[in-house]
Amino acid sequence: MPTIDLFSPTPEHALLRQTVRDFAREQVEPQALAYDREERFNLPLFRQLGELGLLGITVPSEYGGAGMDAVAAVIVHEELSAVDPGFCLAYLAHTMLFVNNFCRNANEDQRRRYLDKVMSGAWVGGMCMTEPAAGTDVLGMKSQAVRRGDSYFLNGRKMFITNGALDDKTLGDIFLVYARTDKGISSFVVEKGFPGFSLGQRLHGKAGMRASMTAELVFEDCAVPVVNRLGEEGESTIHMMRNLEIERVTIGAMSTGIAARCVEVMTRYASERTAYGQPIHNFGQIQRYIGDSYAQYMAARTYLYHTAGRMSLDKPGQRVDSDGVKLVATTMAKQVADNAMQVLGGYGYFSEYVVERLWRDAKLLEIGGGTIEAHQKNITKDLTRRMDLIR
Ligand SMILES: Cc1cc2nc3c(=O)[nH]c(=O)nc-3n(C[C@H](O)[C@H](O)[C@H](O)COP(=O)(O)OP(=O)(O)OC[C@H]3O[C@@H](n4cnc5c(N)ncnc54)[C@H](O)[C@@H]3O)c2cc1C
Repeated sequence: MPTIDLFSPTPEHALLRQTVRDFAREQVEPQALAYDREERFNLPLFRQLGELGLLGITVPSEYGGAGMDAVAAVIVHEELSAVDPGFCLAYLAHTMLFVNNFCRNANEDQRRRYLDKVMSGAWVGGMCMTEPAAGTDVLGMKSQAVRRGDSYFLNGRKMFITNGALDDKTLGDIFLVYARTDKGISSFVVEKGFPGFSLGQRLHGKAGMRASMTAELVFEDCAVPVVNRLGEEGESTIHMMRNLEIERVTIGAMSTGIAARCVEVMTRYASERTAYGQPIHNFGQIQRYIGDSYAQYMAARTYLYHTAGRMSLDKPGQRVDSDGVKLVATTMAKQVADNAMQVLGGYGYFSEYVVERLWRDAKLLEIGGGTIEAHQKNITKDLTRRMDLIR
């Protein structure tokens, strides 16, 4: 029987992995530390992802996308995150939170108006769910859209929006914004030039993920044409919950990318560094860091690809495992990055070795896209209702 590679199940997946790995090594790695230090987003590099066809990775081919599946999305995030998680987070916000979400819930007219612009990278997109006083409790959002004639008037503030700004003064180009309407939560496509839409502030001072921009966005009687509402009024709680599944799985992939790199770095370092006249990999405690890290990384990675392989992007229904993957993979990545820093000793604490940056980046993954406490809550709720999911 032919063996299937769980992590690159088809020749197309294997080719995609090699293409992204080469691009990441040649183009992304050399700029990563500088953009992290300077808290800058590399827009020209981002646009190269459009030339490679990666910005529409899950968009069906009839709309000009790559037409690939959740496993492909996982592969791209894993490879980019192994060299630059900050840049990868900007990719995730654009490609998963805007493009995938938009494409799956838009009508033909909306797809025709916007897809080319975002798949080429001409426009940078993001998704606005979180508010200053509503994060985990997202359904407690206060932003409101009131319909008058052919427009909705949107009022509210959105917080921590990735790609919300491209630099200190420039708004991102296009956003999928959730807000309350008469019939419940609806979502709207909002362009940067819409009157009443502005950059509240670009948020400085993040511990990690500094190569992606985070911003607070403000909507003051922002006029949004009715034709920019996605789906029917009140339908978007479902859009939001469904898209969280691919978001969580791709954040899981960012985590395995970080862990893979950390295992590589610590293994190499432990055979080159000597103490007491021998390589430090001869010491049992160092072996424990390396052995535990590799095994925990592979366990999380296996769960990740198993879940992604069963996901349908059109009919999501994997909440328990998308939460499970993110819970396991993000906590694993943080621990593995910490193990790597310990193996590298004092050198690990400096930016000369990539571990220092990955260690800072890893922490965000336990918070963004849902906190680990939210995943524990969701898993318990789902299993309590469906004990058959356990075995
Ligand atoms: C760098 C960055 C980028 C982000 N990008 C985006 C983006 O692009 N778009 C977007 O919409 N959002 C984005 N976010 C927001 C992110 O999703 C939220 O920060 C996250 O959902 C947590 O919300 P909060 O920060 O308001 O924390 P809170 O919800 O206030 O949580 C605070 C603490 O209370 C805990 N808690 C809350 N409720 C419960 C409960 N019921 N049971 C147990 N514990 C609970 C939490 O787990 C956490 O430990 C981003 C955040 C960051 C930091």
